[in-house]
Amino acid sequence: MTPHLDSRLPKVGTTIFTVMSGLATEKGAVNLGQGFPDFNCDPRLVHDVTHAMTEGLNQYPPMTGVPVLRDAIAAKIQNLYGRRYDPVTEITVTAGATQAILTAILAIVHPGDEVIVLEPCYDSYVPNIELAGGVVVRVPLTPGTFRPDFDKISAALSPRTRAIIVNSPHNPSGTVWTEDEMRQLQDLLAPTNVFLISDEVYEHMVFDGRAHQSAARFPELAERTFIVSSFGKTYHVTGWKIGFVAAPAAMSAEFRKVHQFNVFTVNTPVQFGLASFMADPKPYLELPAFYQRKRDLFREGLQRTRFKLLPSEGTYFQCVDISAVSDLKEAEFCMWLTTEIGVAAIPLSAFYDAGFDQRVVRFCFAKKDETLQLALERLAKL
Ligand code: PMP
Ligand code: GLN
Repeated sequence: MTPHLDSRLPKVGTTIFTVMSGLATEKGAVNLGQGFPDFNCDPRLVHDVTHAMTEGLNQYPPMTGVPVLRDAIAAKIQNLYGRRYDPVTEITVTAGATQAILTAILAIVHPGDEVIVLEPCYDSYVPNIELAGGVVVRVPLTPGTFRPDFDKISAALSPRTRAIIVNSPHNPSGTVWTEDEMRQLQDLLAPTNVFLISDEVYEHMVFDGRAHQSAARFPELAERTFIVSSFGKTYHVTGWKIGFVAAPAAMSAEFRKVHQFNVFTVNTPVQFGLASFMADPKPYLELPAFYQRKRDLFREGLQRTRFKLLPSEGTYFQCVDISAVSDLKEAEFCMWLTTEIGVAAIPLSAFYDAGFDQRVVRFCFAKKDETLQLALERLAKL
C-alpha cells in the first residue's frame, strides 16, 4: 500500500500554462497563452550544437558550466552592463531560469526566513520559497501601472527578511524598471542584509529605446544579487532549458553547493553550441527591434477590439483589460475565449494569491506574423 502522502505543496496544482496550452490544443485554438515562440531558432545555433555533438562533446561538463560558455556570458555582461563577473567563481550555468531561481532560494533561505515577492509574480516563486521553509511576504505592485511601490516594499522589510525577488522586464505586465527605480531599490536595501534575486530572463526584450536596467549596472546592488537569465528566451529555444546565474563569489559558492546536488551539470553540447553562437552579438542586440515590430503589429490589431490595451514596455507579453468585452472572471473568460473564439490567453489572477481578479488577461506575441494575424481575425469579433 502506498503510504499516506503529506503534501509539501498542498495548494499547488498543474500550472495555468500547461492547462491553457492543453485546452488550446484540444480546441484547435491559436495559443497566445503560454509564453513560447512558435517559430524556429536560428539554424546556425542548431548547427553549432549539432557540431558539438558530432565532435564527441557528450560527457559530463564541469559542474559550473563549460569554461567557454562562462567566458562568453561574463564578456556579454561586461559589455552590456559594465560589471566584470569572474567566469571561474561568479558565473554558473543552470538548467533554465526555473532551476536557477529554486537553487538560489534553497541556497540562502532558512526555515522561517521571510522572502518578499512583488505581486503579480511568476508562478514558481511562491512554491520555491515554501519548499525552502521560507515565509512568503507578498507586496503588491501598484494597481493599474504595475510599478514598484517603495513605501510598501520598505514597510514589508523586517529583521527576518532574507531576500526579495524582482523581475524586470516583468512577466506578466510587461513593465520595465527604470534606472531611478533600480536606484531606489539599491538605496532601500543598502542598510539591510537582504539578498536580491533579480529575474532578468527578458533582458533582451525592451522596447521604444529603453535600456534594460540589470542589477549588474548598480555596483552596491550587484554585491547582494543573484542575476538570473535564460537562453530559452533570448534565442527562441525555451525547450532547451538552459540559463545562468551571475553572483558575487561568496554567493556563487553557496549556490553551487545546492546546484551540484540538484542538477550537478547541464547539457554539454548545448553549452558548447551556445558559446560559439554567442560570439556574434547581433542576435541579442537585434531582439528588441524584432519583438517591438511584433508587439506593434499585435497592438494595432487589438485596437479594433473593445479590449483596453495596457502598455507593453518589454517582454513578449501584451496585457488587456477585458471589462468592456465580458462580465466573466479572468479565468472563465480565458476558457471561454479559447473554446468559443479560438484564442488562448492567460488570466492575470494566475500570478496572484488566490482570489484576486482585476479583469486583465495576458497574450503572448512571440508568434509568427501569420499566427498573430489569425488570432487578430478571431479577436476582431470582440
Ligand atoms: N522567470 C520568468 C519571469 C519567466 O517568465 C520564465 C519563463 N517561463 C522563467 C523564469 C523560467 O525560465 P526557463 O524556461 O529558463 O526556466
Ligand atoms: N514563461 C512562460 C510563461 O510565463 C512559460 C512558463 C511555463 O510554461 N511554466 O508563459
